[in-house]
Amino acid sequence: MAEPRVLVVGAGLGGALLARRLQDAGAQPVLIGAGIDGPEGGYADATAASGGLVRAFEPDPAARSLATASLAELLADPMLAEQAGWRESGSLYLLDAGDLDLVAGVGAPGIEVLTGTQVARRFGFDRLPERSAAVWEPHAGYIVPDRLRRAALAGLDRTEATPVARLDDDTVELRDGRRLTGDLVVVAAGAWTPGLLRSAGLTTTLRTKHIQYAHYAVARNDLPCFVDETSGLYGRPAGPGRLLLGLPSTRWDAEPPTPEPDVDLTEQVRATALLRLPGLDPRPLGPPVSAVDCYSEPAGLALRAVAGTAHTFTFTGGSGGAAKTALAASRLAATALLTNRSAVNVPTG
Ligand SMILES: Cc1cc2nc3c(=O)[nH]c(=O)nc-3n(C[C@H](O)[C@H](O)[C@H](O)COP(=O)(O)OP(=O)(O)OC[C@H]3O[C@@H](n4cnc5c(N)ncnc54)[C@H](O)[C@@H]3O)c2cc1C
Repeated sequence: MAEPRVLVVGAGLGGALLARRLQDAGAQPVLIGAGIDGPEGGYADATAASGGLVRAFEPDPAARSLATASLAELLADPMLAEQAGWRESGSLYLLDAGDLDLVAGVGAPGIEVLTGTQVARRFGFDRLPERSAAVWEPHAGYIVPDRLRRAALAGLDRTEATPVARLDDDTVELRDGRRLTGDLVVVAAGAWTPGLLRSAGLTTTLRTKHIQYAHYAVARNDLPCFVDETSGLYGRPAGPGRLLLGLPSTRWDAEPPTPEPDVDLTEQVRATALLRLPGLDPRPLGPPVSAVDCYSEPAGLALRAVAGTAHTFTFTGGSGGAAKTALAASRLAATALLTNRSAVNVPTG
């Protein structure tokens, strides 16, 4: 049987990697939306805005397994690491000591559990709650997701720049009126996905949510990537004396690509960072990065069949965390699409 022609809608990290995995497996993907330009000639999407923190540890087992496999692939392939702009900074995941059973069996090189006191001594984190502990991964760090996306796009045989205007199961109508037909259609349009599905009369549980971070000046240069579950604060090094910092937003159903910055959230970051990171200058270095990602329940970048269609799937739902899972999630999705097409058994969303 001939390998299927798969229309992949959206050239973010998800769509670009999925198209590459499909092509490498012998299928005929057509990536639609490659080259949609943002204000400065680049992409204006979650992939372009992403902080790119990658590590193996995640509290959720499914995300942990994908993140672990993605990091292992990156560390095993120097060319891939170079293409992704990989920087090894280490990763600290601060959590309540009662949740440490989640660390058992995580297959990350050199992974270690630290007490709150050790974290305070080694990295200068202040005023941690009494029961804090941390998962330390010396060989984690961050990538530049936009670079990884561009590397994946560069190897594709068939791309189509014109965006999709309308979905119609196995056919998509482009904004210039042309219609393309595939054996399968995968909507990987990130935060635009819920809108595209709804305008085709389809229901979805996918939603969008705002994500915001800014850069700050910090006195020390040895801070790793970190997530502090005890306060919500996350960050990563961003050049000498600079730190990227953010807190989770609660603004659901935000419009992509760049919603108005949330000044209250900026103030919350300032207050939280002052508590945890002595020596930080609490004035942001410039305006915040304000962007949107597609959120799913359960969270995570995954292939999902679209209810009411025979041939349409989504591949999005990164929920603010897909830079670290995309390598493994795209491999899994391509395999699911190609191995047993008539019985792809994935949750609807
Ligand atoms: C600010 C921010 C920080 C983040 N930080 C991290 C992090 O530190 N670590 C981590 O693991 N994850 C992080 N993430 C999450 C991760 O970057 C995203 O989950 C991931 O990049 C989403 O990729 P995507 O391909 O699903 O969506 P997107 O990157 O949004 O791509 C969707 C693409 O679809 C295109 N499109 C839209 N409509 C159409 C149409 N009609 N036709 C054709 N194409 C269309 C868009 O132009 C876009 O290029 C962050 C996300 C954000 C927003």
